[in-house]
Amino acid sequence: MKPLLTDLIGGLFPVAVSDELLAKCQKSEALAKQFIPSTEELNAQDYELVDPIGDYTHSPLPGLIHRYPDRVLLLPRGNCPSYCRFCFRKSSVGKSSNLSKSQIADAIDYIKSNSQIRELILSGGEPLTLSIPELRNLIKEVMAIEHIDWVRIHTRLPITSPELARNFDFSVFENLPKPLYVALHCNHADEIDDDFVTFTNQLRRCGVTLLSQTVLLKSINDSTELLETLFRKLVRHGVRPYYLHHLDRALGTSHFRVSLEKGREIFSSLRGRLSGIALPTYILDLPGGEGKIPAESEWLTESNGNYTAQSPFSDTKRVTYIN
Ligand code: SF4
Repeated sequence: MKPLLTDLIGGLFPVAVSDELLAKCQKSEALAKQFIPSTEELNAQDYELVDPIGDYTHSPLPGLIHRYPDRVLLLPRGNCPSYCRFCFRKSSVGKSSNLSKSQIADAIDYIKSNSQIRELILSGGEPLTLSIPELRNLIKEVMAIEHIDWVRIHTRLPITSPELARNFDFSVFENLPKPLYVALHCNHADEIDDDFVTFTNQLRRCGVTLLSQTVLLKSINDSTELLETLFRKLVRHGVRPYYLHHLDRALGTSHFRVSLEKGREIFSSLRGRLSGIALPTYILDLPGGEGKIPAESEWLTESNGNYTAQSPFSDTKRVTYIN
């Protein structure tokens, strides 16, 4: 069913661009297209969803998402310093409150009581805008849980707010008892500037392992050459490309959408050009929380323009995917 205008207005995504990022947008079209809003956001499609990857249906507690048995996602902050116009959490990011101390304590209790959980992922709204004492306590408490093997943080801070990234207190990541992985959301080589490199160098000095995630975006990075340049530049600065995401079907994002066919073509030509260390997995998050699958493999078959995906949770379950 086509989303109603009221869904879309209710779902209108806030606009925020930090001062330094705005100055960078004036020099880079790739950055401007990601952060400066367009009226095309009002053009919702039938197949787009308020909750494209089923966060709401897999949330046992506020801000906690438990989709896979071995890991949970915690969203402690409700906002970001600047908003990416294609954000897949645009129905909640910028509109929800930060988690309270007692809600974070409840989330930690949930993790403690579920020994299948091996990994905590902190994700957006921007988790690195937690105060340093809050972040320190959260990491300390979670790493003290015996069945937690490592913690992962997803951030876009050096891009969305270079000023906050410069003033970040990296001591919070020193001498941790368990591995910490930081996945930097980065979509174009223009984002890897001095601010980004200074930030990643500081993380590396603390012993943090760096990964990246990139969203495949029309007219921004949808070519073999642009992605090759991006992935090479990331590896040169110690960041291992982890995921290339096919765009999720959030409301009003069709102007960013690249077809699966084109995404697969680009990805297959990257295989011939990049060493394995620079090649991420091209990934598709199935709608409704059905899980992540590789977008370029036998997991997703095409027939007359219709796609059928194999569920990662069951050998026999099939999920229809509309690109
Ligand atoms: S940084 Fe992440 S959570 Fe924040 S607006 Fe961008 S995509 Fe959404």
